[in-house]
Amino acid sequence: MGVIPSRGGTVSIDTPTFQSTEPATGEVIDSFLDMTSDEVNATVDRARIAATWWADLGWDARRERLLGWKALLARRADQLAWLVHREGGKPVEDALLEIALSIEHLTWAAKNAEKVLGERRVKPSLLTMNQSARLSYEPFGVVGVIGPWNYPVFTPVGSVGYALAAGNAVVFKPSEYTTAVGQWMVESFAQVVPEQPVLQIVTGRGGTGAALCAAGVDKISFTGSTATGRKVMAAAAQTLTPVLLELGGKDACLVDADADLDKAVDAALFGAMGNAGQTCVAVERVYAHEAIFDEFLDKLAARARMLEPGSHPTSSYGPMTVAAQIHIIREHVQHAIECGGRVIVGGDEAVGERVVHPIVLADVPENCPAVTDESFGPVVIVNRMRDLNDGVDKANASQYGLGASLFGSDRTALAAAARRLRTGMVSINSWVMYAGVPALPWGGVGNSGFGRIHGPDGLHEFARSKGVVRERFTSPLVLTSFSRRPDTGALVSKALVALHGRRTWRS
Ligand code: NDP
Repeated sequence: MGVIPSRGGTVSIDTPTFQSTEPATGEVIDSFLDMTSDEVNATVDRARIAATWWADLGWDARRERLLGWKALLARRADQLAWLVHREGGKPVEDALLEIALSIEHLTWAAKNAEKVLGERRVKPSLLTMNQSARLSYEPFGVVGVIGPWNYPVFTPVGSVGYALAAGNAVVFKPSEYTTAVGQWMVESFAQVVPEQPVLQIVTGRGGTGAALCAAGVDKISFTGSTATGRKVMAAAAQTLTPVLLELGGKDACLVDADADLDKAVDAALFGAMGNAGQTCVAVERVYAHEAIFDEFLDKLAARARMLEPGSHPTSSYGPMTVAAQIHIIREHVQHAIECGGRVIVGGDEAVGERVVHPIVLADVPENCPAVTDESFGPVVIVNRMRDLNDGVDKANASQYGLGASLFGSDRTALAAAARRLRTGMVSINSWVMYAGVPALPWGGVGNSGFGRIHGPDGLHEFARSKGVVRERFTSPLVLTSFSRRPDTGALVSKALVALHGRRTWRS
């Protein structure tokens, strides 16, 4: 129990606290309130007032504030990267990259919100020529954003930045493992927007997230595991609150026979092992063409053996952020070996107390949990494909469908494979680069969730469309009146044939 000052709010002195610690050393970074429903509800109440103020500011003022925030983030990126490193364990350079991407997105959302969501005239139909029609996108009001720990800046900014740009206030619940980063983000925003608590934090464990889902927010944007996503959706169903779910993945990387193997190995290795594999779009499965399978595997193994994970700011990757994940990784690896999978690098003994060394397994049966379930660690399965079509079939035979990557030289074949992949994102001859193009959407299918952040779709997620018509003149053919002409039906029939009766299509 304890008292910790909370910006702009009141908290009970009986509120329990929890500590955020460095995964590498266990050293305490800070203590935070494990907020109860009452505190979450009070935060949402404050957000409601802030939401009206923020919406009334209008596009230009909001854009200036958001650009001010991104400039502040850019100036203090080193400080934030250091905190991300300490609290989450990833190398400082990786943290900086995450921040750089976040700033790009924030900039794009701020600059494009009016263009994408601004009110506009739309064409009426021929039957409604007498109407002037306008389409507008209004903010929901208060958006609840619940985030994971693996990308504590990039992941929330994908929702927070776009929701703010669309004119909403946000209540953000970061993961208990990366609360200090969440707090830093919210405090930095308050320096640019000091007037109202437009972006607030609620701190706590899973229960606080559940309380936010029940607090009457107008939309929930959840990023996290598929299991928790189901709970969030069930909770939201009680109040018919719309949800956006960005969930887990089991991404595949397809390497064709004509691929630049060094490039493919380099990208697949970083995609699999970077951030200790704790990336929703990590390369967890590689399907390499039979013709280059051995060569690809040899090169990948050689490069994987050179990695030096650890707790140093410049280690190849850091310790596992959440100790519980180690158990899942160990189970997947042991099961894959029992099923007949070959250990190429690492194996069971690579799974340490906190640091997991690179693990490369080959020829693992497709029905093993290591192939079907998210491992979320520095483990990659390399299996064979006959050709790209076979690879796509194997990639698609997954409960998940988040991202995928393709390596090869035949642009036509790669484009066809990209179209057939049942995923939300595809990267050709690179890994994850779609994340760096702010105009592109981010999101998955199947158990990877639904809804999109980023790009125009990401802005639309945080606004509701509204249509307004205004009669400009009385129509000669009044349709919606009990005193309409007796021959209205006949005239409509004639008009239908004239307007729509032809089989050909003209725009
Ligand atoms: P979790 O599902 O465990 O937690 C996500 C967030 O939900 C945390 O803030 C958590 O709080 C909170 N939470 C826990 N229980 C509830 C509940 N009942 N109601 C509401 N909120 C709750 O995920 P992780 O944090 O472990 O993140 C890893 C997962 O996220 C992986 O599956 C990964 O693939 C996925 N992910 C998906 C991304 C995407 O864009 N599709 C991007 C990044 C990650 P607390 O941590 O305090 O328990």
